[in-house]
Amino acid sequence: MTNQTMMQGFEWYLPENGLHWKRLEAQAAALRNAGVNMIWLPPAYKGAGGPASVGYDVYDMYDLGEFDQKGAVRTKYGTKAEYLSAVRALQQNGIAVLCDVVLNHRMGADGTEQVTVTEGLSSNRNQDISGKRQITAWTKFNFPGRAGKYSGFCWNASHFSGTDWDEGARRNGIFRFDGKCWNRETDAENGNYDYLMGADLDTDSPAVIRETRDWGSWYQDTVQMDGFRMDAVKHISFDFCRDWIAAMREKKPDLFVVGEYWGKELHTLTHYLDVARHSLSLFDVPLHFHFLQAATSNGNFDLARLFDGTLTGAAPAHSVTFVDNHDTQPGQALSSFIPAWFKPIAYAIILLRDAGIPCVFYGDYYGIPHDGIAPVAQLPKLMKLRERYAYGTEHLFFDDGSLVGFTREGDAEHPDSGIAVVLTDSCGGSKRMYIGERFAGRRMADTLGNFPATVTVSADGWGDFPVKGGSVSVWAAEAASEFCYLNF
Ligand code: CA
Repeated sequence: MTNQTMMQGFEWYLPENGLHWKRLEAQAAALRNAGVNMIWLPPAYKGAGGPASVGYDVYDMYDLGEFDQKGAVRTKYGTKAEYLSAVRALQQNGIAVLCDVVLNHRMGADGTEQVTVTEGLSSNRNQDISGKRQITAWTKFNFPGRAGKYSGFCWNASHFSGTDWDEGARRNGIFRFDGKCWNRETDAENGNYDYLMGADLDTDSPAVIRETRDWGSWYQDTVQMDGFRMDAVKHISFDFCRDWIAAMREKKPDLFVVGEYWGKELHTLTHYLDVARHSLSLFDVPLHFHFLQAATSNGNFDLARLFDGTLTGAAPAHSVTFVDNHDTQPGQALSSFIPAWFKPIAYAIILLRDAGIPCVFYGDYYGIPHDGIAPVAQLPKLMKLRERYAYGTEHLFFDDGSLVGFTREGDAEHPDSGIAVVLTDSCGGSKRMYIGERFAGRRMADTLGNFPATVTVSADGWGDFPVKGGSVSVWAAEAASEFCYLNF
């Protein structure tokens, strides 16, 4: 079996030219050759921002670039036909397609309603700061440009729990609709973090439960995707999300699902997995922040504790590891971009370890021209190392504050497989690690080209593997290292 490698198939600042689906279709074969066998595509439905929308300002989930709404037929990424064509091309090249699903909110309503609300404190949504009063809320979604095709469902205030804009007074606030409460089974940040943005779906409403399932079923029939990436799950009733996923699996039992729960605290992630009965994976957000700390601590981060408090450490079978994403890249709200010097180290860790499914960020693979950010030069090589050689029993040597490593023994199925990875956020040195007796007496070379000399593994399967300061070296059987000098 080949290792799974996911790619996040977009970054925030892609050009708004409607060419992205075509670009991905053209890249499908090249991505598969690079070792990618799973791709997460951006939200494909029409956002309030129309052809400039990244997709998270959801307007009409039945408009995949087909109707003249919000200023154009196409989305930022192209038309519905181009989307479906790209999905087919990716799948035909052996790349599973994950679709981005935003069930938390709607934006860009077609009309307003007078709604009775109570205003809450932004930093503690359980605390009311007003009595009941009326606001003018953007809550009517009739989708006139679609005229009822695929679904006649129209949204109104009864389907939402609250909003953050009073059009009458032209001001912001956290407005909870009369008769509604924030869902108790959401994240506890800000007292209760059910409300994130826009018109917040009332997931207790039977009509909302029915409509989101109807839409999901239509979306599955239309796109035939292999799985979902669920947006903003900390802001959505945990039970609702779990039940929605279960409903989607009635049609496709092996749907792969990964949720975005943006939380640094491991216990919030493991609690979510418990409530969801481990029916999905989550992105390992704590690990991302450990990378950031390690990269910005002048060599003083304790690498021995890199996996402490991470999902990869606690629940590796449910962890999707990543280095950066469209929210952490420069210019975004959650910006926490990993500095360039540490990127190869972080990618070696997520791509070559056994634990977790790694997700390669589009902006790291192709660069981010909008911000003059170059691609991570070593990334294609590390992805290829994962595909070919990162197999077999793993041995961890996270036993030192500044110089750590791990090995994979390799297996019979993958010729020349087995690697020794050594890395440091501080001064160079070497690490004595066990790679298994399969490697006894064999010479190993640094596939990243930092060292010309080889390392010979002892008869009992141990080697001393060097690394230069602030870097990573990946040692592989000498025969395996040959391809690493090729360009691809
Ligand atoms: Ca919500």
